Amino acid sequence: MVRREHTRPVRVRDVQIGGSDRVVIQSMTTTDTRDVQGTLDQILRLEEAGCQIVRLAVPDMRAAEALGEIRKGTDMPLVADIHFDWRLALTAIRNGVDKVRINPGNIGSADKVREVVRAAKDRGIPIRIGVNSGSVERHLLEKYGYPSAEAMVESALGHVRILEEHGFYDIVISLKSTDVPTAIRAYEIMAERVEYPLHVGITEAGTVFAGSIKSAVGIGAVLAKGIGDTLRVSLTGDPVEEVRVAKEILKSLGIAADSPVIVSCPTCGRCAIDLIGIANRVEGEIADLKVPLKVAVMGCAVNGPGEAREADIGIAGGRGEGLLFKKGEVVRKVAEDQIVDVLLAEIREMAARKEQD
Ligand code: SF4
Repeated sequence: MVRREHTRPVRVRDVQIGGSDRVVIQSMTTTDTRDVQGTLDQILRLEEAGCQIVRLAVPDMRAAEALGEIRKGTDMPLVADIHFDWRLALTAIRNGVDKVRINPGNIGSADKVREVVRAAKDRGIPIRIGVNSGSVERHLLEKYGYPSAEAMVESALGHVRILEEHGFYDIVISLKSTDVPTAIRAYEIMAERVEYPLHVGITEAGTVFAGSIKSAVGIGAVLAKGIGDTLRVSLTGDPVEEVRVAKEILKSLGIAADSPVIVSCPTCGRCAIDLIGIANRVEGEIADLKVPLKVAVMGCAVNGPGEAREADIGIAGGRGEGLLFKKGEVVRKVAEDQIVDVLLAEIREMAARKEQD
């Protein structure tokens, strides 16, 4: 069941969600949206980390009005996160956001829904319906007993129906459970039911360490089935970490076509250099490169080059030195204290060549 490219594409400023094999990385600011400069600073950090769409909380009218100033300060696709208040949605749309997250069933009367839909249509922006395990309606909890995958899907389809009744189809759907198997099942069921693009995530996943693993398992399982068009990793921490984790999830599945991948060994008794330090420094330095490069950082020459034969470039440790290799062939020896600098220079040169190709 690989169906990602068959979803109905929507545009979020210059970014397309759905209708292709690309999976778009999103995150959410943690700043007070009324703090325009602080929010813009964080958006810039997210953009530099590789975030493609950023969502902002809009808890009140001052935050909705601040979106106008934020809009002037960035070209990043912006999503307004609205919970219930249709007036906040209208103000956010008027202030230039590129997508709104709001559940039409929570807005109230049909007139209010109609106004929000009309504003979104006029601006040509999509609406995300976001169902979380904690937001499933009471009647569905009574029907299913708990926020099961089926309950979440039925809840989301109820909101979808409201938008469809108003002739609105630029819809993205998320079904975020804190329970990984439930989230996976919910996305599987929904992918069978609709052609709308799906926003994948595990809600309230936890701290940077635990939440990254939980998100990787849940989001990774869904994406590996060919389901999902955009993702957000939700972590209790700096949102830049969310983007870094999202990129690693996509790289692990071979979906991120424009990021370097590091292959590094776990080290063992054969390793005679500070391989862990070298690997971490190289990883940090090349994180922002936007080229598909495989870099190997291996502890010894016995197995290093051979195990990393598919790597574009790499280093294999020796005693107080390293062997620089390309495509599994040893090129030359480098003193240990020069390894990081030499490797980075070679990587940058190779990346520049790939960018010109
Ligand atoms: Fe050990 Fe060498 Fe394998 Fe690293 S590459 S785990 S140092 S044998």
